[in-house]
Amino acid sequence: MIAQAGTALADPAASAPAAVAESAAATPVNTHPAPALPRPGDDFFRHVNGAWLDATEIPPDRNAWGGGQALAEQTNQNIVKLIEAAMADPNTRGNAKRVADFYAAWMDQAQIEARGLTPLQPLLSQIDAINSKTALATLLGSTLRADVDPLNSSILETENLFGLWVTQGLHDPAHYYPYLLQGGLGMPDRLYYLDASEKMQKLRAQYREHVIAVFKLAGLDQADARAERVIQLETALARIHAERDDTNDVQKADNRWQRADFARKAPGMDWAAFFAAAKLDAQQQFHIWQPAAISGAAKLVASVDLASWQDFLRFHSINRLAPNLNAALAQQHFGFYHRILRGTPEMPPRWKLALNATTESLDDAVGQMYVARYFPAQNKARIAQMVKNIVSAFDRRIDALSWMAPATRKEAKAKLKTLYVGVGYPEQWKSYDGLEILPGDALGNVLRAEQWRYRQQIAKLGQTPRADEWAMPPHIVNAINLPMQNALNFPAAILQAPYFDVNGSDAMNYGALGGIIGHEISHSFDDQGAQFDSKGRLRNWWSKADLAHFQQASQALATQYSGYRPFPDLAVNGKQTLSENLADLAGLSAAYDAYRAALPDKNAGAAADREFFVGYALSWREKRREETTRVQILTDGHAPAQYRTATVRNLDAWYKAFDVQPGQSLYLAPQQRVRVW
Ligand SMILES: [Zn+2]
Repeated sequence: MIAQAGTALADPAASAPAAVAESAAATPVNTHPAPALPRPGDDFFRHVNGAWLDATEIPPDRNAWGGGQALAEQTNQNIVKLIEAAMADPNTRGNAKRVADFYAAWMDQAQIEARGLTPLQPLLSQIDAINSKTALATLLGSTLRADVDPLNSSILETENLFGLWVTQGLHDPAHYYPYLLQGGLGMPDRLYYLDASEKMQKLRAQYREHVIAVFKLAGLDQADARAERVIQLETALARIHAERDDTNDVQKADNRWQRADFARKAPGMDWAAFFAAAKLDAQQQFHIWQPAAISGAAKLVASVDLASWQDFLRFHSINRLAPNLNAALAQQHFGFYHRILRGTPEMPPRWKLALNATTESLDDAVGQMYVARYFPAQNKARIAQMVKNIVSAFDRRIDALSWMAPATRKEAKAKLKTLYVGVGYPEQWKSYDGLEILPGDALGNVLRAEQWRYRQQIAKLGQTPRADEWAMPPHIVNAINLPMQNALNFPAAILQAPYFDVNGSDAMNYGALGGIIGHEISHSFDDQGAQFDSKGRLRNWWSKADLAHFQQASQALATQYSGYRPFPDLAVNGKQTLSENLADLAGLSAAYDAYRAALPDKNAGAAADREFFVGYALSWREKRREETTRVQILTDGHAPAQYRTATVRNLDAWYKAFDVQPGQSLYLAPQQRVRVW
């Protein structure tokens, strides 16, 4: 991916007022920076974006603002107009009707207010009725959802005790399997519970206040005592949770358990009751992403009293659905997760939240409406050609690698050859058959959509995966590499300015969108992607010497990024961000080659190269709140935008284009420049 998981989906604060979107879009391209701006060799990000950064305020309902967010804002406004038209048309049918009814129910705040917690009552009654550890296991199984995805979308968190992901087997690409992941925390990571720093201690105190407030707003007595039990249990879970770096290490995630292994490897949980309730009792083989955490959670099911588990389940049932509930609970949720945790001052207007919720539940249905109206067929052909050119450039780079042995080279080229590239939208849309969306039932619609998705995912188990199955809807401003599928998705919404301008120069388009296309291609060859072969099997296809060379170069890049320190007390984690930084570096290099090869005038000089690199820096133009940057550095695989822009310091052509000299801050001697692909 090029951005944080779910920047547009999961984060309702990621939207902004129209006026700001327009003024940002209208900012002229800054190819002739004012003298007050730093030299390119000292700070290339500010050299290109400084005037914009100084003139721009992050809108109060956003945690960040930049070219990507402005484009997402415009896209969202266009989509809402389509939904409103569908609502007004008595002939609206099928999925458009589902979208219209879902959105209308979510906008009907009076109805949501009047119903209060009533829609959650059946689940809360089930929690009240838990009278044994078997009943607890049954409830945990019946609430399991397909809500995580550690490899494609990096969705690593769920408030449920476990998360489920369904995809092809790590060693059997021809069949779908269930993957079980750790979960159950209300804060973003185990560090938030265990880190001794003053900042984290303060956040823990604020989280405690939040848990108490949610219990009170839900009308439950003894809110303080309940919150204490929830936090104790979550802290115990945090202690057994895997660290980020381990969760991102697919070798450590490569654990296969037979159904019969659970009783022995994870004693304490009534697994028969759990799997029966999860409708997985016929499934024989599972992939266990964080085995110690799964075993540890089962042990806690046995050792912690039922009352604590019941309060844990009550809190998380309400907390995770709070944005869909009454105003008091929705605001309480925003106050902790967005104002405190990410520094966003104001809640976005209702329509943006409603659109986010609709997209989460009916992704393809919304995307289909968007594409039909806003994605011209000629764009698809032109961008497909650009992708082809960059794939060819990458292929030529593989040929030119002097250090790579013929056998390794052969498999790398095979991988490139079998890559599926989706441009704009999927070949086949989801049907949503059997999903009931009712007018006036905002929360019920969300719950039914989650259940529908879960049933749809587990129905795939044992079947043969499709390489052209998409993992991101077409109206999202982002792009994604699916390492096991050996596939790329470029959603329609990102195929627009500032990434791709139909009237813009090739140099700018290759620097901006080309950099993104190259980035996604390169994910197939980053430290994680390179562990999968051309069939998507987790298999070491590298010769020993080649792997050592690759790892050494990767380590140099990790060291380069660990040296970036946005705050005195916090540095970028070079290991956690390595995949993304490798993809940036290889992607920009391939995009540069492709742009040079596509130039009609092969002798075009430094001016065209400057445009290419300025296009790249413009595509990263972004301002982010300090709190959001801190969460990002601790939990996200992507480095902040200014450091991603600094990728240029590893490309010789950038030095020539901007006459970068020794002594300037970004200058690297030729032998220090990292070259991987
Ligand atoms: Zn990425």
